Amino acid sequence: MAKRDFPIEVTAPDIAPYRAGNTGVDYVTTFDSGKPGPHAMVNGVTHGNEICGAIALDHLFRHDIRPVRGKLTLAFVNHAAYRRFDPARPRDNRRIDQDINRVWADEVLDGPGDTLELRRARELRPIVETVDHLLDLHSLGTNCPALLLCTGQAKETELARAIGFPAHIVLGQKRRSRKRMIDYTPFADPATHRTGLLAECGQHWARQTAVNALDTTLRFLRGLAVIDTAAFAEHVSSPARAPQRLLRITGSVELQSDDFTFTDEFHGLEHFPDAGTVIGRDGGADVVTPHDDCILVMPNARATKGMRAIRFARVVTADQAD
Ligand SMILES: [Zn+2]
Repeated sequence: MAKRDFPIEVTAPDIAPYRAGNTGVDYVTTFDSGKPGPHAMVNGVTHGNEICGAIALDHLFRHDIRPVRGKLTLAFVNHAAYRRFDPARPRDNRRIDQDINRVWADEVLDGPGDTLELRRARELRPIVETVDHLLDLHSLGTNCPALLLCTGQAKETELARAIGFPAHIVLGQKRRSRKRMIDYTPFADPATHRTGLLAECGQHWARQTAVNALDTTLRFLRGLAVIDTAAFAEHVSSPARAPQRLLRITGSVELQSDDFTFTDEFHGLEHFPDAGTVIGRDGGADVVTPHDDCILVMPNARATKGMRAIRFARVVTADQAD
C-alpha cells in the first residue's frame, strides 16, 4: 500500500572528491592534529538514503573544519548505496545487499557472510577499532524531532549531556544480535571509556534535518574539545544550549501480521498519559500503550510482519525548560 511521502528539500552532495581519502580505505579520511586527544569519528550515509550525514561531512570538508587536538575521522559508510540515491525513488537505496548497521557483532564480522555491506564493514573495522568516540548520523521516515540514541550506559549519557544537542536522548539497550555500529564491542563495553552515539537528525529529506546533522556533529566535536570555539561558533546554527530530556525505552512492538495500521499519523515523541490507549491495529488485535506517561519513539508505519513498528519510552530526567 503506497503511503504519502515527503518532499525532497535537500540535495545529495557529490562525494566523489572524498573517495581517495588518506587512510587506504575508500571514502574514509582521518585528520590528525598532531596533539594528544581523543580520536573522534563521524559517519554519514550508513544508510544510503539518509543524506543529512553526507551534507554535514561535506560541510566539514569544504570549510576546513579540522581537529585542534586528537584525531577526526570522517567516513561515508555505505557510499555505494548512497551513490544510488534517486530523488524519484528516495527510499530505495537504504542498503544494497543488507543493512550495514546490523552486522557489528564479532561473530558476524568474522563469519562466512559475503555481502557488499559486510565487505565494507570489514574494511572499516580496523579504523573503528582505533576510535574513542563515534557519532553515526542518521535520519527518519517521519517528521520527528532530532533524537540521540545510545545503549543506555552512563558514559554515553555523560557525553550526550556534554554535547547538549539534540533535545531528546533515548536510552535503549545493547543489542545481542543484529548489532549496530554503536553496539560494536569496544563501545558496548562499560569497562572502556569509548562511546558510540547514533543521531536521528529528523525526517530524511527535510532541510532542517541537514542543519541538525551539522549541529549535532559540531556539538559532538566541541564537547570533546576536538574543534575550537571559533570553528564551532562560526558554523553552528544556534550557539545557545537547549534543555535536554532523557527517555528510557520500556518496550517495543514487533508485528505479528502484514496488516498493521496506526490509529493516527504518529511522528514520534507523542505522549499518552494513560496505559492501555489504543495506538494501532496489528492483524485485528489492538496495539496499546503499556504504561502511563508513555512516549512513542520511532513509529514505522511501513513495518511488516516480524519488524518493529514502535518503541515505547518514559522520561527519566528533564532539564528545567522555560
Ligand atoms: Zn539510519
